[in-house]
Amino acid sequence: MLLAHVALPVPMAHTFSYEIPARLAGRTRQGTRVLCSFGSRRLVGVVVTAGEGEPPPKVKPLLDVLDTDEPALTDELLAFLRDLSGYYLAPIGEVMRLALPPIERAVARALEDSLFETKKGISARRVQTVAPTEKLEESALGGQAGAILAHVRAVGETSLVDLENRWKSARAAVKKLAQLGLVTTGSREVQADSFFASPAPRDTPPELTPPQASAVEAIATALASTSGAATFALHGVTGSGKTEVYLRAIVAARQQKKGSIVLVPEIALTPQLVARFRARFGDDVAVLHSGLLPRERLVMWKRLRTGELDVAIGARSALFAPVRDLGLIVVDEEHDPSFKQEEGIRYHARDMAILRAHRAAGVCILGSATLSLETEHLSRTNKATKLVLPDRARAQPMPAVEIVDLRRMGPGPTGDKRISLPLHRAIERTLAAREQVILFLNRRGFSPAVRCEACGELCSCPSCSVALTFHKRHGERLRCHYCDFETLLPDNCAKCKSPALALEGLGTEKLEETLATAFPEAKVARLDRDVASGRTVDTVLGRMRAREIDILVGTQMVTKGHDLPHVTLVGVINADAALSLPDFRAAERAFHLLVQVAGRAGRGDVPGRVLIQTYTPEHPAIVHALRHDVNAFLELELADRRELGYPPFSRVGLIRVDHPDEATAREACAMLANVARDAAEAAAREGPGRVAILGPAPAPLARLRQRFRFRVMLRSSDRAMLRQTLLAVARAARSVERTVRTAIDIDPVQL
Ligand code: ADP
Ligand code: ZN
Ligand code: ZN
Repeated sequence: MLLAHVALPVPMAHTFSYEIPARLAGRTRQGTRVLCSFGSRRLVGVVVTAGEGEPPPKVKPLLDVLDTDEPALTDELLAFLRDLSGYYLAPIGEVMRLALPPIERAVARALEDSLFETKKGISARRVQTVAPTEKLEESALGGQAGAILAHVRAVGETSLVDLENRWKSARAAVKKLAQLGLVTTGSREVQADSFFASPAPRDTPPELTPPQASAVEAIATALASTSGAATFALHGVTGSGKTEVYLRAIVAARQQKKGSIVLVPEIALTPQLVARFRARFGDDVAVLHSGLLPRERLVMWKRLRTGELDVAIGARSALFAPVRDLGLIVVDEEHDPSFKQEEGIRYHARDMAILRAHRAAGVCILGSATLSLETEHLSRTNKATKLVLPDRARAQPMPAVEIVDLRRMGPGPTGDKRISLPLHRAIERTLAAREQVILFLNRRGFSPAVRCEACGELCSCPSCSVALTFHKRHGERLRCHYCDFETLLPDNCAKCKSPALALEGLGTEKLEETLATAFPEAKVARLDRDVASGRTVDTVLGRMRAREIDILVGTQMVTKGHDLPHVTLVGVINADAALSLPDFRAAERAFHLLVQVAGRAGRGDVPGRVLIQTYTPEHPAIVHALRHDVNAFLELELADRRELGYPPFSRVGLIRVDHPDEATAREACAMLANVARDAAEAAAREGPGRVAILGPAPAPLARLRQRFRFRVMLRSSDRAMLRQTLLAVARAARSVERTVRTAIDIDPVQL
């Protein structure tokens, strides 16, 4: 019998066999999407293999084949997805979903042709909107509806698509909220895709600097070579012209008739990068971002799949773009933690980019001013070739970095110790010279905590084990930054009923207010997740470039790759916040942040200056950031990791368990820890390595969205052994009670 082995979007590791009826035989191939009956449901799956075989009992026929011309997935993409599924022990059918186009067959069929006409970008479109009403009653709204209401109230108006991107069942929740009169829905014509809203004038490629030229040559040689894959670690200081290298690499790939994928940390934060690609290649690049409507995504997907477009740019999910004859994957700012997906299939886009490029016998470029220890390790073990751009492209000097030792500072002229006298003076001088300032503070909101002065209790989230942040703008409310719970500032302490509640700490909102008072002549603006949805980021950066803003205050959003030539002063309000996280990567992260934010200064004609305020000026991350000495920091941190047996010298796997009931979560986690111990012992009897097992223990964020979280950490320098142990855990996890949520996180980034 002709059988198709189909990957279905269900949490099971294996494929399912179906009979290929004669009428579909010609069209059922590896990689095609098929419609299958599964229990009482109909599911769309992907054919993994097809051929003659012994039918299993009660085999059912395929219902239909969805791809008319070519299979949705090329052999290359299919093979890669199977590898990914194997590496992360993730169900193959759920992995496939990452790469499939949105399915809206009837709708898509009707719309496709007319959309294909609008080749240049995407025309205006209607979106469904959701807005809060005046009705403020706080009924007991649980789960997603509560979170969505809080979010809609916080942002004012938003689109249903945006909500659906964040919450799976947003549509149902919005319906319920509308019935309760808490939100109104409507629809509105919005502008075309913001990335294509303004025309991009073509640029003239600059003459390459000698280091750029040799980097491009090495990459082009690898692309032209028939001997297979190559990985490059492109270490270029901030402003060294890494983007130019990417652009030339894409041209070199095109000369070999190969397509390219460019991955960036957060596409909404990089409108400028997209503009540079459009300036070089015109509008023939697919920009994949979360603001696309399903049918727009479908159009982009098709244009890539047919080969009409050969370049895709996007955040981590662009890793799965159906680029034909893939030859090149660029990972820009490869050190950025946002390349790790933290829900569902927990893949790391950087690691998987290396794998996909390797599979496709192509080239992978990992670029950064602060290479991750993982990438540095690849280069030191000859798995990647390092390319270095040691100087800024237009020979600007690196900014002068100075430390402000907060231990020895009194309050500055604003009365606040956190805007120290040296920083205050530097801001004054910069403003007087009509130049711009960026101030980085990693806490949004007005005050990160509200504390009872009588008993010391913090106002904390009813659903999570975190303090609530006070936000002033939207009616003096307390907000949870993890679940979006929101409430009015209470009159009394929840524990002792004392009315003496005090705001504690400094957030970006308060910093903005303080600066506006201290420098009344200056225009102060803020960039953080509270003010920024996709388009506002663009607006703020545009106003910054047009010099309509003098001081920009923000969270790590301001540290990203922005190229703003009139910024000459960068201030880091508190470097210690990032250093104190309970994570073996804390020092590395802090170092990356400091070097990246410092790199925003002095990119134009006037040299830049950076002030780092800290209570721990002797910390190695700070000392080396001060000297722009990336290599010394890498050396030191690698030595530490080696000694402690942490990645990149070992591999880590986390078993995560959560449940609304604390004891249930703890017990399930303990059970899985025991399974892991037994499996590790069994493995140790056969091989020389060993797997260290730590836990079970409460997760650093012990409760989130009303669920208690526990974890077990597994660590080993023997990859196969770790995998074998985790496989046993994955099998056992299927037998735990269904209300317990379990996840295996391989190479975790967040602990
Ligand atoms: P990076 O991504 O390494 O921080 P960019 O690619 O943003 O650096 O480049 C910094 C600036 O230098 C940009 O304004 C860019 O246009 C310019 N630039 C890059 N390469 C050259 C070159 N070869 N000649 C002149 N200017 C260049
Ligand atoms: Zn109290
Ligand atoms: Zn919360």
